[in-house]
Amino acid sequence: MMDSFVFPGMTTRVVFGSGTLAQAGDELDRLGQGKALVLSTPHQEADAQKLAEALGGRAVGVFAGAAMHTPVEVTEKAIAAFEKSGAGAVVSLGGGSTTGLGKAIALRTGADQVVIPTTYAGSEMTDILGETADGRKTTRRDAAIRPETVIYDVDLTLTLPVGLTVTSAMNAIAHAMEAFYAPDRSPVIELMCRDAMQAFKAGIPALIEDPRSQPARARALYAAWCCSTALGYVSMALHHKLAHVFGGSFDTPHAETHAILLPYTTAFNEVAVPDALAPIAEAFGGGSAGGGLWDFAREVGSPLSLKEVGITEADLDRAADLAVENRYSNPRPFERADIRALLQQAWDGTRPGA
Ligand code: NAD
Repeated sequence: MMDSFVFPGMTTRVVFGSGTLAQAGDELDRLGQGKALVLSTPHQEADAQKLAEALGGRAVGVFAGAAMHTPVEVTEKAIAAFEKSGAGAVVSLGGGSTTGLGKAIALRTGADQVVIPTTYAGSEMTDILGETADGRKTTRRDAAIRPETVIYDVDLTLTLPVGLTVTSAMNAIAHAMEAFYAPDRSPVIELMCRDAMQAFKAGIPALIEDPRSQPARARALYAAWCCSTALGYVSMALHHKLAHVFGGSFDTPHAETHAILLPYTTAFNEVAVPDALAPIAEAFGGGSAGGGLWDFAREVGSPLSLKEVGITEADLDRAADLAVENRYSNPRPFERADIRALLQQAWDGTRPGA
């Protein structure tokens, strides 16, 4: 129990269950929005079209151009479609890329957002938006970015490929890992993160056995909600900084990058805050939080080395430079040499502490 804390309260309405997609129309009505533009990636366009049909007169159409890291040129095209349609809301159906597009539209137009997440990336509960323009990714936090309503429908995650199921779960666990030691954490967030660790530990191996297992999908999506809430209400540190460096400057895929770095960043900070990270060690076993996560990653077939996302050993020097360009809070103080050593381990792919 912490001596003192501030809990800001949650502002996003959450609808969770199986078949909840059918409630999207009611949720739009609840927001007082008669018309909405449905958003998706090209890959999920058919699902978005089906949703638009189900929404009937409430849907003004589908914009299926969402892309990873929210390119500003895509946002501009989507805003043109949104403004022409006279809609007052967006319905974002998909993973973090689609949610990001919805947030970018909302920030610039004041649109209400109903988000229907289909991965575990966890953008839906947050006030964070990362965008790319001219090859540079910038991130900002603003209350106007946070979605009004999130509908979690377990049925929509049944089609999530096993590879993305695993890396997306590791991406979610990374939010909880940094929430456990965040200076602005509270008991509510800590409880959610503890529960999420247990749910992922049980749920992910069950999904590898049977990707369409409804109970295991429900467990994993519930855990994703907990981790997204953690990301949305506390500050992140070294792990998210490093993931941002690789995604933003080396164009590595988002979920895999988080998955690879997680055991190493956890082990690095565990030296300074072993008690804060004890819930991870307890959930994943292996005698330590970093070691336990590495063992889990190996068990569920998650990538373990930066080589697997195309990073060369020579890239590690530039990544270390970028990681220490600006100072930010982290439970364990570090110099460039410490980061370079951490990255070497993440590139070698060896078990932390070995
Ligand atoms: P994604 O949204 O790019 O999805 C990956 C691919 O999987 C896409 O083609 C998508 O259409 C497909 N897909 C998604 N759900 C599916 C399903 N259930 N079945 C079949 N295919 C499905 O990937 P992501 O990892 O969810 O999101 C990554 C993006 O989200 C990055 O741009 C990242 O920066 C952003 N993000 C932002 C925040 C935030 O708070 N701002 C948090 C997490 C992630």
